[in-house]
Amino acid sequence: MSSYGVKILKELIKFRTESFSYDQRLQDGKECADFIADELEKLGFRTRLLSKLEDRPVVVGGLDCNADETCIFITHYDVVPAGRGWSTDPFEPVVKDGKIFGRGASDDKGGVAVFLSAMKDLLEGNDSPAFNVRFICNGDEEIGSQAGLRWLLSEHRHLLEGDVAYILDVSTSCLSVGCSTSITGIINIVGKQGHAAYPFNCVNAAEKAVMMASKLMEFGKKEEKHVSSRFKAAPNPVSGMIWNRLSVTVLESGEKPNVVPGKATIKFNWRLIPEENLEKRKMELKKEFGNWADELGIDASLKFHESIPGYGIDESNRYVKRLKSAVEIVDPSRAICGVELGTTDGSIVYHNADIPAIGFGPMDEDCNFHGTDEFIKISTLRSVREVVKMFISNG
Ligand SMILES: [Zn+2]
Repeated sequence: MSSYGVKILKELIKFRTESFSYDQRLQDGKECADFIADELEKLGFRTRLLSKLEDRPVVVGGLDCNADETCIFITHYDVVPAGRGWSTDPFEPVVKDGKIFGRGASDDKGGVAVFLSAMKDLLEGNDSPAFNVRFICNGDEEIGSQAGLRWLLSEHRHLLEGDVAYILDVSTSCLSVGCSTSITGIINIVGKQGHAAYPFNCVNAAEKAVMMASKLMEFGKKEEKHVSSRFKAAPNPVSGMIWNRLSVTVLESGEKPNVVPGKATIKFNWRLIPEENLEKRKMELKKEFGNWADELGIDASLKFHESIPGYGIDESNRYVKRLKSAVEIVDPSRAICGVELGTTDGSIVYHNADIPAIGFGPMDEDCNFHGTDEFIKISTLRSVREVVKMFISNG
């Protein structure tokens, strides 16, 4: 890594940009956004800070290279809360054994550093970019992108007009060409509360919830088997192709051992392959749910929350091919295309701005992102910078 990239990343880590919630101010959000905007300007970008929320401005940089096409890079400067148990101060970068430690080192201040150093290298060298370049850096990715990417789409839509989006907020494990659909469901069960010595006078919502949860789990097991996608999955220990998954994630009921609870809540998360119709599958599960409730004699309701549609881009797409050939040169073992098991900002761009969203980012499998002692290898910063450079250069 050029000393520039390392220097930038160390500066970025020092800003306290922990995203807790929209109710809580992003402490150094404005300062961090200003810093990124300054660096962009030094590289010749026209830069603006746009804000729905003052403490979380979106940094937008544009570089017109007289090219026919525009590539939009998307990333974020907020980080998940540091939490406890770090070996060193999470906001005081430490370089040790070829790694830089600090919150956001890989997710995704590493992505910001990768982009800035790639552009610096490219513009200082003889290479000219094959694209006009736009850089969008959000301050609320970790809490849902409502004041960032989603707000830009509704208020400054033209900024998301382009030919291809490069998502920097992804891993090094493969070339990201899509993501899974995510559906969150909540089931509320109503029973009749009473004394545990007289269960015959009560309807036990906790016990009903266990029965309902086991129905969901059976459904989940079938889901894992019956669907097949034409897209490969990002590397994982289970399957080569992307597949459906369902997990029961929350079971809540009861207060005291001698009280039969009258209420229970089940939450679950369902991940689907990109080809499936989200609304159709929701209807299908709703129908199944009605049958289970009848069969078990349960008074229950099901609501869906937070559905994020997945997507997948074929390997024959010319931007995918272009990115693949860059990764092939830098790290051939990673030059495989995969749909993410999770969701990415690529979904928002793909579905709302109607452009392909792909990426190869700085997050290694062992980087502890969202955990304690998060780090990035300097060699990873360097290799991802090279990929970005090759992707946008004419050379
Ligand atoms: Zn991220």
